[in-house]
Amino acid sequence: MAKPKPPVQKNETIQLTFEDLTHEGNGVGKVDGYPLFVPYGLPGETAQVKVVKVKKNFGFGKLLEVHEESDDRVEPPCDVYYKCGGCQLQHMSYQMQLDMKQKQVKDVLKKIGHLEHVSVHDTIGMDDPWRYRNKVQIPVGEKENGELKTGFYQKRSHNIIDMDTCLIQDEMNDRMVETVRRIASNLGISAYDEQTHRGALRHIMVRTGQNTKDIMVVLVTKTKKLPHQDKLIDEIKDAFPNVKSIVHNVNSAKTNVILGKETNVIYGDEYIYDTIGDIKFMISPKSFYQVNPTQTKHLYDKALEYADLRGGETVIDAYCGIGTISLFLAQKAKKVYGVEIVPEAVTDAKKNARLNKMDNADFFVGEAEKLMPWWKNQGLEPDVIVVDPPRKGCDEALLNSMLEMQPERIVYVSCNPSTLARDLRILEDGGYETKEVQPVDMFPQTSHVECVTWLEKKSD
Ligand code: SAH
Repeated sequence: MAKPKPPVQKNETIQLTFEDLTHEGNGVGKVDGYPLFVPYGLPGETAQVKVVKVKKNFGFGKLLEVHEESDDRVEPPCDVYYKCGGCQLQHMSYQMQLDMKQKQVKDVLKKIGHLEHVSVHDTIGMDDPWRYRNKVQIPVGEKENGELKTGFYQKRSHNIIDMDTCLIQDEMNDRMVETVRRIASNLGISAYDEQTHRGALRHIMVRTGQNTKDIMVVLVTKTKKLPHQDKLIDEIKDAFPNVKSIVHNVNSAKTNVILGKETNVIYGDEYIYDTIGDIKFMISPKSFYQVNPTQTKHLYDKALEYADLRGGETVIDAYCGIGTISLFLAQKAKKVYGVEIVPEAVTDAKKNARLNKMDNADFFVGEAEKLMPWWKNQGLEPDVIVVDPPRKGCDEALLNSMLEMQPERIVYVSCNPSTLARDLRILEDGGYETKEVQPVDMFPQTSHVECVTWLEKKSD
C-alpha cells in the first residue's frame, strides 16, 4: 500500500507538542503519527513551529515560539550558543541532559542489541558541568578593521564567530587564546584565509594539565616561518610566566586538518604533564589525551572496578592510545599488554610506563584485530580484555579473537552507544553476558555520551 502523503507542507507554521528527544537533543513532535524533529524543543512543551524540510517519513522544523515552557528549560549561559555548533544541550537542565543520555543508551541497547534486560545505571555527571575541556583548537580570522579574531565556526559553515570565551573550556585556555590573539594582532600578524589560501596564523591550540597547571601553546601557521617569533615568545612568557611549552606547527595544505607534519618546540619543553588519579602522563601536541580529566577518572575507576583485578591477572588493553587505561589497570594486575595502531602513541605509552616506574605494562604497535590472533597463537591467555575503540566500534575480527581467547571478563569502554550495542550482541551470542552499563558524562552540554560495560563469560 502506498504511504500516505506527509500531513505537513514546507514553510507551513503549525502548533506542535514535543513528546521525546532525539539522540542529538532535538525535540520530537508528531502530526498524525508523522514525526518532526525540531532543534531546541523540549518534551512536554507546546510550540509554534515552522516546517523547514519535509521528507517521506519525517521532517524538520524551526522553533518559533514556545507556549508553555518545560521546567527543564534553562537560559543558555553562552552568548553564542544558538549560533555556534559546539554545544547542543545548553537550553536544558543538567539533570535532563544526564537522563537523556541514560535513556539513549537504554534505547539503543534494546533496539540494536536486543538487550532490554541489562541494567544501565544513572549517568555519572559533573558537580560543575562547565569549564571542563583541557584542550582548545580555535581558528583565527580577521575582523573588518584588520584585527585578529578567534572563534568557532558558525553551524554548518566556515564563518568564524568572534567570541571571547567558551564556557566549556578551562578558563586558562580561554585566557591564553585571548592573550595570544591580542599579542599577535598588535604585532600585525595576519590570519590565514581559507578562501584565498593566504595569510599566516591558522589556529591557536592550547593544552592544559588541569591537575599540574602546566600549559602548552601551539601556533599553527601556513607560512614556514612564524612571524615575529621572538617577540611573540617574550610577550606570551610575560603574560603567562608559568607557560611550559610553546610550539610552532606548520600546515601549508588546503585542508580541514588542524595540525601539519612539521612541529618545532620554540620555547620550553616538548611535553607537558597531567595526572589522572595516581598516574602521571606526558602530553605532546599530537597525543590523544582525554579532554575531560575529572570525568576520565570516574570512567577509568569504573573500568578498574569492572575488571575486578586481584593482582595475579594478565590483561590486554586493545586500542590503548598513550597507555592511559593500561597503566590504570597495571596498578592492580600482574601484567598488561597494550596494543595501538599509531606508533607515536605507543612511544608515548612506553614513556608513560617508565615515568610511573611501572614495569608490568608492555606496548605494541599494530592493528588490535591482527595482533590478538597472533598473541593467542603464542599462548597468551588473558584473564581480562579491555577495549576502548573509536566511534566505529570493534572490528569483527577483534570480537572473534576475544571470543576465542575466552577471558573471564571483558570491559568495553565506548564513545558510541550504537556500535557498542551492535558489538555486545555479537559477544552475547558468543557466550558472554552483559552485566552492567555505566554511562559517564565526559562532554557536558553536548550530545555525546561515553559508557563502560562489564561482561562475564557465561558458565557452561
Ligand atoms: N584508551 C585510550 C585511547 C582510546 S581512543 C584512552 O582512553 O586514552 C581509541 C584508540 O584506538 C586511538 O588511539 C586509535 O589510534 C586506536 N585505534 C584505532 N583503530 C585501531 C586498531 N585497529 N587497532 C589498534 N588501535 C586502534
